Amino acid sequence: MSNKYDIIIAGDGILGYSTAFALLQKDPMLKIAIVASQHKNAATLASGAMLNCFSELTETSFLTNTAQSKFQMAFEALKKWPAWLDKINEYSPKKVLSPRGTYILLNSKSGSLDTSNFYAIIKALKTYNEPYQEVSPKEIPGINPLDSCRPLQSLYLPNEGYINPSFLLATLQQILCSSCNVKIVYDSVEKINYSDGIVRGVTLASGKQLSSGKVILATGAFTQKLINKIPEIKDQIPMSLSGAGFALTIKPKQHSIQHIIRTPNRAGACGLHVVPREGDLYVGATNNVYLNPKTKLSAGLTQFLIKCAIEQINQDFYSAEIKDFIVGNRPVTIDTFPLLGEVSIEGLFLLAGTYRDGLHLSPYLSEYMANLILGTKKENDNPFTPERSFIQTKNIPDAIDEFILHYFAGSYEHGMVLPAFLSEKNFCTLLRQKIQTLHDELEIDFGLSPDIILMTLFEENEQKAKRTLKKHLAGLRLQKFKNVA
Ligand SMILES: Cc1cc2nc3c(=O)[nH]c(=O)nc-3n(C[C@H](O)[C@H](O)[C@H](O)COP(=O)(O)OP(=O)(O)OC[C@H]3O[C@@H](n4cnc5c(N)ncnc54)[C@H](O)[C@@H]3O)c2cc1C
Repeated sequence: MSNKYDIIIAGDGILGYSTAFALLQKDPMLKIAIVASQHKNAATLASGAMLNCFSELTETSFLTNTAQSKFQMAFEALKKWPAWLDKINEYSPKKVLSPRGTYILLNSKSGSLDTSNFYAIIKALKTYNEPYQEVSPKEIPGINPLDSCRPLQSLYLPNEGYINPSFLLATLQQILCSSCNVKIVYDSVEKINYSDGIVRGVTLASGKQLSSGKVILATGAFTQKLINKIPEIKDQIPMSLSGAGFALTIKPKQHSIQHIIRTPNRAGACGLHVVPREGDLYVGATNNVYLNPKTKLSAGLTQFLIKCAIEQINQDFYSAEIKDFIVGNRPVTIDTFPLLGEVSIEGLFLLAGTYRDGLHLSPYLSEYMANLILGTKKENDNPFTPERSFIQTKNIPDAIDEFILHYFAGSYEHGMVLPAFLSEKNFCTLLRQKIQTLHDELEIDFGLSPDIILMTLFEENEQKAKRTLKKHLAGLRLQKFKNVA
C-alpha cells in the first residue's frame, strides 16, 4: 500500500474503530489508515462500558439546549445499539453480545444530589415513555450492602445494558484488518500536516508521513497535545482535558449479579457501579479531571472504591480476588461538551471530548461522522462544532450551588462527619468564598462545572492549573448565555 489514503484516522479507541467501520459500510472501497498508538491508559478499555442513557441523567441534564442536545445523542445511540451490533456480528464468527438491564439504587451514603438525580431519571423515563420498574431493593439479585448503606428505593431499566469493551474493540479491529483497503499503522501521530488552510496528512513519531485530504482526530484525552501544534485553531477550541478514572475487576467466590447495579451520577463522577464481565465483576469508577492524562493509581482512591463496593453493593466482595487494577482517561473538554466536526483547516475533523459516555455514543457518533466526512447526508445543526465558544450553562452563584452539592456528595461518601458546631450551612459559607475567589482569579463572569472546579483544587500544581485555565479562557471566544432552555 502507498502512503496515500482517502481518510486517516488518528486513534485506535472505540470512536476511531467505529468510525472506520461506519465509513466502510457506506463505501467499502475507501482507503483508510488508522494510526494506533495503543496507549495503555486510553478510555475505551478502562470503561465499564455501560450502555446507559437515562441512568446517566442528572437534574441539570435538561436545563439548557446544549445539555438537551447531548441527551438526544445518547437517546439516539440507545436506539441504534441493537442494529449496530447486528451489523458488526454479520462480519464476525464470534458474536459480540450486549446483555441488557440496569438497576439504579438510591441510598443515603452520598449527598442529597443522589436524590435529585434519581428523581430526574424517573421524570425523564416518564416523559419519554421509556420502560422501567420501581423494584424493591431486596429483590435485586446479588446485593448485600451494609445495613447503614442499604438502598431505600431502586429502579430497573430493561433497555440499558453493557458490553465487554475489549471484545468489542478486538472484533472491530479484526473486521477492519480483514479489509484490504484498511491499514492499521502501529505508530503515533506526531503532527498534522496542512498548508493553505487544507489538511495534507500526518507525520508519525517514527518520522514516516501519511498523506490524505481528510484526517480525523479520535485521540481521546490525548487530543490537546496535537491541537497545541496548530496555532491557527488552538485558541478557538475549548481545551481538551483528562477525566482520570480508576476501576478494578474482581472475582468474588460466588455472585449472582447479572445486570448493572449502580447509583446515579454523583460527586463529579459516574456513580458507583458494578458490571458483570465474563463471570467476573467490573467495579467503577472514580473521576478526577486533570490537565494531562494519568497513568498511575492512587492508593487512597483505590481504597475508597473498594470500600464503597463492599459497603454499598455487597459485603462478600471483601473476600473477592482482585484480578485487575485499571487506570483510564476520559476525554473531557473545559465546558464538558464534546468536539464534533470539521475545523477551519479543510479536511481536519475532531471526534473528541465525549467524557463519560463515548462508548455508549459510538454507534451514533461514528455514523454521524461518516456522513459528515463523506457528505452523504445533511446533518442537523451541531452545537458541538470544535471551533466554538465555551458553552456557558450557568452563572457563578448557580455554579457554586452545584459545586457544593457535588462536594458534599463526595465528602459524605468519603465518610465526612461534620463537628456539631459546624453546620452544613457554615461549612458551605467557607466553600462559597473559595469558589467565588476562583472565578474572580480566572476573571470570568460565568460558572464552571463542578468537575472543572474540582480540577483546580486537586491538580498537584494548583497555581499552574489556574494559570492555564485563565490564559485559555481569556483567549477563547466566550458566548453569553444563549442556550438556556
Ligand atoms: C474509568 C472509565 C469508565 C468509563 N465508563 C464508561 C461507561 O460505562 N460507558 C461509556 O459509554 N463510556 C464510559 N467511559 C468513557 C468512554 O470510555 C470514552 O468516552 C470513550 O471510550 C472515548 O473513546 P475514544 O475512542 O475517543 O478514546 P480512547 O479510548 O481514549 O481512544 C483514543 C485512542 O487514541 C490513541 N491515540 C492517542 N494519541 C494518539 C496519537 N497521537 N496518534 C495515534 N493514536 C493516538 C490512543 O492509543 C487511544 O487508543 C469511561 C471512561 C473511563 C476512563
